[in-house]
Formats: sequence, structure tokens, C-alpha cells
Amino acid sequence: MTRRPKIDPEALLRQHGLQVTAQRMAVLRAVAGAPHSTADEIDTAVRAAIGAVSRQAVYDALNFFTDEGLVRRIQPAGSPARYENRVGDNHHHLICRICNRTVDVDCAVGYTPCLTAQDPSGYEIDEAEVIYWGRCPRCLAADRARTKGRRTKGHEEDRHG
Ligand SMILES: [Zn+2]
Ligand SMILES: [Zn+2]
Repeated sequence: MTRRPKIDPEALLRQHGLQVTAQRMAVLRAVAGAPHSTADEIDTAVRAAIGAVSRQAVYDALNFFTDEGLVRRIQPAGSPARYENRVGDNHHHLICRICNRTVDVDCAVGYTPCLTAQDPSGYEIDEAEVIYWGRCPRCLAADRARTKGRRTKGHEEDRHG
């Protein structure tokens, strides 16, 4: 389900006519290595990879790449923005309400049904962003295990303090 295209950050930067720097390559690599990461997580990964780099520089690079179309930003309600390098295919996301794990949901390429609004009110639509909220399999399993445990152990009293 998760497609992780191998990226060549240097080629990608050149392709977009952008200056190639170690920092920019590290940011692109971090985004590709862990899609749907927050800026904080990417910052940590970049620092681990190339050492001294300011947080602001990583944030600036992410904004820049988003504007240039190399990176896509998703902004789930009540959560920090997340970044990914899978761009241009209008795919959607499943997000777990409990652990925030985010996975891709493919959408049709070419004719994309979600881009056909019933009444577009004269807007020219180029993107539809769908987020399916729910619980991921891991959290569901954990919840089931907990429920089962409660049943066998009997009712546990709430302890305050
Ligand atoms: Zn979860
Ligand atoms: Zn995605």
C-alpha cells in the first residue's frame, strides 16, 4: 500500500533548476525516508544525517520545497503539518486518531473521481484532499486486547490520584 519511490535528491533538485546543497539533499532524503513526518521529525533526521543545521533552515527548506512542488504538505486537523515526497498524484490519507500513524490511500490517476465536485461554484479544482480518520490496525488490536483483559479480570475500579 505504501509506495516509496527511491529518490535521487541531487537529480531532483537539478530537474527543478534548484541549487544543490548538502542541506537540501538531506532534507529531501529525510522526507523520502519517512513519509508523513512532521517538520520536527524531519529536523531530527536531518541533524542526525549531516550534523550542524539550524531548525529554521530545515523549516525554510520544507516550505521552499512545498512551494516548488517537490514536497507535499498535509495539514490534518489538530495535528502538526506532515510532509511527503509523493507528489502530483492526488492520493489521500488514512490517519489513526490514537497514534497518528498516517498511510497513503491511492486515488485514481488520470480521471480522478474525487476531483469532480457536484457543484464546483465556478472554481477550477486542481486538488482534493481527503483524510479518513479512524483507528489503525495496531491500535484496534491493542484496544481489543484491553477489552478482553478487562472482561477476564473483571471490573477494575478507577483510582484517582
Ligand atoms: Zn494507531
Ligand atoms: Zn501520502
